[in-house]
Amino acid sequence: MRGLFQNTLLNIVFPKFCLNCKKEGDYLCQDCQGLTGILEYRFCLCEKASRLIKEEKCNRCRRNRRLDGLYFALPYQNAIVKNLIRQFKYEPFAQELADTITSLIINHFQLLGKEMKNFSEFLLIPVPLTRRRLRWRGFNQAEEISKKLAGFLDASLTNNILMKIKETQHQADLSGKDRWENVKGVFAVSNREKIKNKNILLMDDVYTTGATMEECAKSLKENGARSVWGIVAARG
Ligand SMILES: [Zn+2]
Ligand SMILES: [Zn+2]
Repeated sequence: MRGLFQNTLLNIVFPKFCLNCKKEGDYLCQDCQGLTGILEYRFCLCEKASRLIKEEKCNRCRRNRRLDGLYFALPYQNAIVKNLIRQFKYEPFAQELADTITSLIINHFQLLGKEMKNFSEFLLIPVPLTRRRLRWRGFNQAEEISKKLAGFLDASLTNNILMKIKETQHQADLSGKDRWENVKGVFAVSNREKIKNKNILLMDDVYTTGATMEECAKSLKENGARSVWGIVAARG
């Protein structure tokens, strides 16, 4: 009730406007949601369409990638998506934007239908920030989406198991090869028992080279996780 009251109050004091067409009501109106290019099927880590590969990932990715598979709902190149994700990181109402982004991800899964894996009994782990960064930003965007998505996926949100122990440069400021170097050894697992033989769903907002998620998957698997799937809002 308190939440509802707060939301109503927020809407009066700070009405929401569509980030794209500026119409009042929501951060992304229905019409503009329809322009985000929500994907109708799953792709391999290398962007090969999943319909073209028989297994969960293609032969090449099976050799080179620790992530077992990836789901992404939106193309990052789409101008509306790019704007939404950017605002999500830096705007004061970012936590509310998590609702909009989560609903787009759910929409993607609904379009996948039977192609969607069953994630019940998976642990849903958000890609962590360092403690310092978390304090500075006030929230972890991957965690905000995870909180809202866990129920739909029937997965259990598991925080504070995967930790980021070293600060990194912004991946966006680096070129491909440097991005892989930048994240090396920056993640650690605090409690091995909790992830031993577990299937894990790793959540992040954007996937570009995949360096961050690969490094997380490496750390999780070295500490006993059985499988690690990735899920992101958008792929660059
Ligand atoms: Zn709009
Ligand atoms: Zn592949």
